[in-house]
Amino acid sequence: MSAGSGHLFVIGLGPGAAEWVTPEATRALAEATDLVGYAPYLQRVPVRPGQTRHASDNREELARARQALALAAAGRKVAVVSGGDPGVFAMAAAVFEALEAGEPSWRGLDVKIIPGITAMQAAAARIGAPLGHDFCVISLSDNLKSWDVIEKRLAAAADADFVLALYNPASKARPRRIHEAFACLRARKPPATPVIFARAIGRPEEEVTVTSLAEADPAIADMATLVIVGSSATRMISGCGPGRPFVYTPRGEGTRQ
Ligand code: SAH
Repeated sequence: MSAGSGHLFVIGLGPGAAEWVTPEATRALAEATDLVGYAPYLQRVPVRPGQTRHASDNREELARARQALALAAAGRKVAVVSGGDPGVFAMAAAVFEALEAGEPSWRGLDVKIIPGITAMQAAAARIGAPLGHDFCVISLSDNLKSWDVIEKRLAAAADADFVLALYNPASKARPRRIHEAFACLRARKPPATPVIFARAIGRPEEEVTVTSLAEADPAIADMATLVIVGSSATRMISGCGPGRPFVYTPRGEGTRQ
């Protein structure tokens, strides 16, 4: 079979809750003959008879992308699954990296990226509208880039007064990085800056902590946590009822206050 007959969907499953999987993603998952992905993401997809599952380790992104492209080139309808959005620190870029470096015939494949709700959107929605004005998204994982680069980017984003959304804040292999990141931010931003730790959003173990840069305990961030650090304009509204305050960043930063 020619590569032209193969299909590759790169699908975002959203952050966890079933209602955050889009109808387009559900349709593509139902059409696929083969599912490829990190095992915990595959577990979130309902089992269908006749569909083959290829689970892999989280660190094997490029190998997984090549495997998916080879299956598609053999005429299969392949769905590569990612949590959140596949284009945000996830499989879509790995697929294009493998495609560019791979077999010339892979370029004839029908490759489609199916977007999902990314963790930062789900986390922001839980707490108000902290991303209402300019923001900057940084992964704190130094698996694929040096810590030096990460610190430079953090410092530049803090100095430019962006709201920050921090993915991959910590893992068992790098428990100290989040502390170093907070030291960098504390040296540059006001102590009262709102900080949100949004953990396992959309899953049963969901937990949201709202605090300030001065009082935040970075140790509570783990692999399932998304951290949002406000800009100088980010505000809290309390007294709106039981539970947490709202946190938001006004639309017209610097123009309305
Ligand atoms: N493609 C994913 C991100 C993958 S990187 C997306 O678009 O969301 C993995 C990181 O995403 C985690 O370390 C964490 O920072 C964040 N994350 C993923 N799911 C999350 C969830 N349900 N709640 C909070 N953070 C989450």
